[in-house]
Amino acid sequence: MYCKYSYKGLNFEGISEGGIRTSIVMPSLSILFDIGNLPVDHVHHENLLLTHGHLDHSAGVPYYISQRSLRKLTPPNIYLPEDLFEDMNDILKIYQKIEGFEYVYNLKSPKINVFYPLNNNHSFKVFKTHHRIVSQGYTIYEKNKKLKEEYKNIPKEEILNLKFKGVEVSEEKMIPLVSFSGDTKIEYVLENSDVSNSKILFLECTYLDDKRDTKRAREWGHIHLDEIIHYAKEFNNEKIILIHFSKRYSNKMIKELVYSKLPLSLRDRVECFI
Ligand SMILES: [Zn+2]
Ligand SMILES: [Zn+2]
Repeated sequence: MYCKYSYKGLNFEGISEGGIRTSIVMPSLSILFDIGNLPVDHVHHENLLLTHGHLDHSAGVPYYISQRSLRKLTPPNIYLPEDLFEDMNDILKIYQKIEGFEYVYNLKSPKINVFYPLNNNHSFKVFKTHHRIVSQGYTIYEKNKKLKEEYKNIPKEEILNLKFKGVEVSEEKMIPLVSFSGDTKIEYVLENSDVSNSKILFLECTYLDDKRDTKRAREWGHIHLDEIIHYAKEFNNEKIILIHFSKRYSNKMIKELVYSKLPLSLRDRVECFI
């Protein structure tokens, strides 16, 4: 079902159903995380961060470009894994021919561990994810000015005095704000401290019960709830939003299984995006 979520002034909305469709919008930064459905009301957002090519995450790409081209909106920035670039570009050229008008878009493959600016205060980085096909997750950072360590215990007047003299007393830090996993195994969280330290983590959790156990989940490049519980100590996030639940579970089952199984240390921080 369509879902909205807000935390500390950050708003998200969209839909995420495992194997069916996933697309989550962050309007304040004009971002779409994946586009597995057709977000008619959101085509004006100009940054599409695509995790991988499975159609439940990428089916809307031609439609999104087509709609923006028809409406004479600026070319969207579409970020995707490097190994997907050529195939996606070929598909878009074919659709352009079928539709009989020019598609305008910027297709880009971000490099691992490089900051890509979104606006003056926000950037993103990509991190490798572990799925059955080439895939990557995204972390959004916020620029934060902080007092340098050596000035932390100095009285305020003295700091002001130093500033007046032109001394640089503060430094800029990039704080991981939001991470988005797409489809992946748990290693995505375990290998990247910026992911496990993001204020908000959108994390796939496709399987929840013993009928599809951890072994099966890993074979298909997904996360089982039991793994999140097993690695509970690794999560430093303020909020963990679970997405991409298999359609084999009803919303009622999802809530019952998640909240009955989670340890106390996670229960208050975890939300289900359903
Ligand atoms: Zn998926
Ligand atoms: Zn997938």
